[in-house]
Order: sequence, then structure tokens, then C-alpha cells
Amino acid sequence: LSERLQKALKNLTGKGKISEADINQASREIRLALLEADVNFKVVKDFIKQIKKEALGKEVQESLNPGQQVIKIVDEQLTKMMGEEAVKLNKAPHIPTIIMMVGLQGTGKTTTVGKLANYLIKNEKARPLLIAGDIYRPAAIDQLRQIGQQLNVPVYSEDNKDVAQIVEHGLNQAKEDKNDYVIIDTAGRLEIDEALMDELKRITEVAHPDNTLLVVDAMTGQAATQVAEGFNKDLDLTGIVLTKLDGDTRGGAALSVRAVTGLPIIFTGQGEKLDALESFHPDRMASRILGMGDMLTLIEKAQQDYDAKEAEKMAQKMRENTFDFNDFIDQMDQVQKMGPLDQIIKMIPGMANNPALKNIQIPDKQIAHMKAIVYSMTEAEREDPDMLNPSRRRRIAAGSGVPVVEVNRMIKQFKQSKEMMQKMTSGNMKGLGNLPGM
Ligand code: GDP
Ligand code: MG
Repeated sequence: LSERLQKALKNLTGKGKISEADINQASREIRLALLEADVNFKVVKDFIKQIKKEALGKEVQESLNPGQQVIKIVDEQLTKMMGEEAVKLNKAPHIPTIIMMVGLQGTGKTTTVGKLANYLIKNEKARPLLIAGDIYRPAAIDQLRQIGQQLNVPVYSEDNKDVAQIVEHGLNQAKEDKNDYVIIDTAGRLEIDEALMDELKRITEVAHPDNTLLVVDAMTGQAATQVAEGFNKDLDLTGIVLTKLDGDTRGGAALSVRAVTGLPIIFTGQGEKLDALESFHPDRMASRILGMGDMLTLIEKAQQDYDAKEAEKMAQKMRENTFDFNDFIDQMDQVQKMGPLDQIIKMIPGMANNPALKNIQIPDKQIAHMKAIVYSMTEAEREDPDMLNPSRRRRIAAGSGVPVVEVNRMIKQFKQSKEMMQKMTSGNMKGLGNLPGM
């Protein structure tokens, strides 16, 4: 998505308010991008409508260009649509808190039972009991037993054809043993059918779960929404666990499932291991769907640290060809304020994976050297680099404690970057593309 969106947004270079044309152009690309991420088309449509309403006529902030401003709005809306804040599990007033896992076959229910137990042990020093409620395949019970052994957690199972009864007995056991959590594993099917729903409803009637979590496989994309709707119709779901996100780069399912069911995503599964469970953060998922790397972090940094007026002043100097070593130092300071340059470059979409930039490093030490060299110049030399003849260069090298070759290199770099920046200032000086050194 990032590439496509970047291209679309690069064209938005006007100033002042965001125009309808700006938004129409951007939203066409955003729509395609979301569909490519396998977001449900109805969800996409609503989303675009929302973005248009939000963005139109909005004042473009001084430190951003309209493209960046639209990205910011898109990101905020995505975050909002996915619930804004991380949601926690419901807690019962008296122990045990009961969690029931439901979902289609193979989505990761049994694994998630184990992950959740592990999570609760780690975070709350909990003492959970697991109930084996998938009785149709002997292997399913063994799978849960093995997980229980790995975590040193008791697993309740029974040779009984009535799952509701098993669950009831399991709960009695938990009360006796004073377990603070009970996590119920259930059977799944390849598709939703009535027999499965009846069974799950009967379990619900005996267990009264505080949390009924639907386990959804992120890799199934928008197909997940139909499943979620189906389960939500028959059961009082309280939240969603989105599994296999480690295998899904698009993240579209998160947006669709949340938008269609209105249910909060509480956890995400990030791998097969029992510690691969994370609580869900809408803002992080929004960035992932946008595929922007840490573009937003970068925009925030730019807003905080980069003074647009300062940039304009520099641009002026470029145009008038009066950019000198004093300005060079000022720019170095600006860059340093933003953080290590190699990290900043990696945050720019498209740059992160650029092999040419993979090992780029401009260490603070080198910037310190450059500064030392400039400080060893006279005021006249700083203002007019052309007067730096070999004898002056030798004096400066001695003064700043670096070899002459380094002085030469730095003067050459200065001239090159000045040339490059002069070319760039023929365009728009606002925005990240014109940051010093980029
Ligand atoms: P169930 O039929 O719903 O109980 O599904 P299982 O818990 O047996 O999981 C089915 C398969 O998906 C197993 O091979 C799991 O290891 C795998 N799995 C579950 N969750 C994740 C996840 O978050 N990431 C990955 N990569 N695999 C997962
Ligand atoms: Mg299972």
C-alpha cells in the first residue's frame, strides 16, 4: 500500500486548506489500497466517506504538506474504527473468571487457550484451569493436555458424550480448587452449522462465560467477517482474538471484523508458540494496514522538531545562494534534534527496504567532527567557502584536530549538498523531502 499511497500523495503539494480535488485523488488510492489489503468493500466505502468528511476544508498544519496531512487523518480514522484503545478481558466479581473460546476449525482456538493461560500466568500470576470441550477428536484432547503439561496447568477432561456436562463438572472442579480462571476449549467445524451452534449455546447456558472470544484467522481476510457475523448472531460474543497475524502482512481482517461486528479485538496471535499472544493496539494496526512503516512517527517528529519557518529561511538562502557554513551547522543541529539519522531514514516509506540505504550510518561522531572543522574557520571563511585554499585548510585541520583529507572531504560534501539543495528548492520547501541532508 505504501508505494501506491505515496505516489498519490506526492502530487498533493498545494498549500492552505485541503481541497476536494486533493481528497478525491487521495481517496481513490486509499480505496484501492484497502481493497488490496482485503478489507471488506462496504467497510471501505464507509471509511472513504468518513475520510472525506474529516479532511475537507481542514487547515494544513504548517509543518506538514497536504499529503502528510491526509495520511494523518487516514491513520486517525483507521485507529478510531478499530476501537482507539486496547480492550481488556471482563473479570468476574467472584473467581473463577470464565473464558470460552469459539471459532471455526483450525483458526487457533486450542493454541489460544494455551497462550491465554500463559499470558494470565505471566501478567497476573493466575492459576487457570483448562477444560477440554472439543471431544470429537481424541487428538484435540491430547493437544490440550500437552499444552497443559508445558505450562504446568491442570486440564479437565472426561470420557463423556455431553459437552455441557463436562463443562459443568470442570467448573465444579475449578471452584473446589479455587482456580481464578477457567478457559474452555470448544470444537470447531469447517463451516458454521446448526449442530455446532446448539452445542455452543448449551455450554453457554451452563457456564455463563464472562468472556466469549471468537477466534478468527487473519489470513482468511474478509472471509472472516461472514464467520464473525454468523457466530455473533447466535452467541453473545464479547471480543475477538485475531490469530496468525504473523503470516498476514495486510491486516485487513482486523478492520473488517471490527467494523462489521462492532466487537473489540482483544488479543492477536503472532505465532505458534505459547508466548506469541499480544494485546491488540488499534493505532499500531492502523499503521500496519497503511503499510507506512513508521511514517507517522516520522511525521510526529517533524512536527515537533522541525521549524517550518527555519526551513523557509534556508530556502531563501538557497535561492539567493548565500547558504554558508554557518547555515550548514544550523542544519546539522536540526538533524541531530530529530535523532540518529540512520533511524530517521529507515522510517521513510520505501527507504526502509532500500538495499542501498541498509547500512547507512552517519554517526554523531562524524557530525561532531564536521562541527569542529567549521568552528576552526574564521567568520570570513565560513561565509565564503571558496576562499579555503590549501594553506587555510591545513590551518583548519590543525585547529580542529583532524587530518587535512577530512577537511577536504567535508568541504566537498558541503559543496555537493549545497548544489543538491539548490536543485530541490526549485520545488516546495515544505515537507520532509527537503530536510537537511535528504
Ligand atoms: P483449532 O482447531 O481452532 O483449535 O486450532 P489450533 O489451535 O489447533 O491451531 C491450528 C493451527 O494453527 C496449529 O498448527 C497452530 O500451531 C496454528 N496457529 C494457531 N495460532 C497461530 C498464530 O497466531 N500464528 C501461527 N503462525 N500459527 C498459529
Ligand atoms: Mg482445537
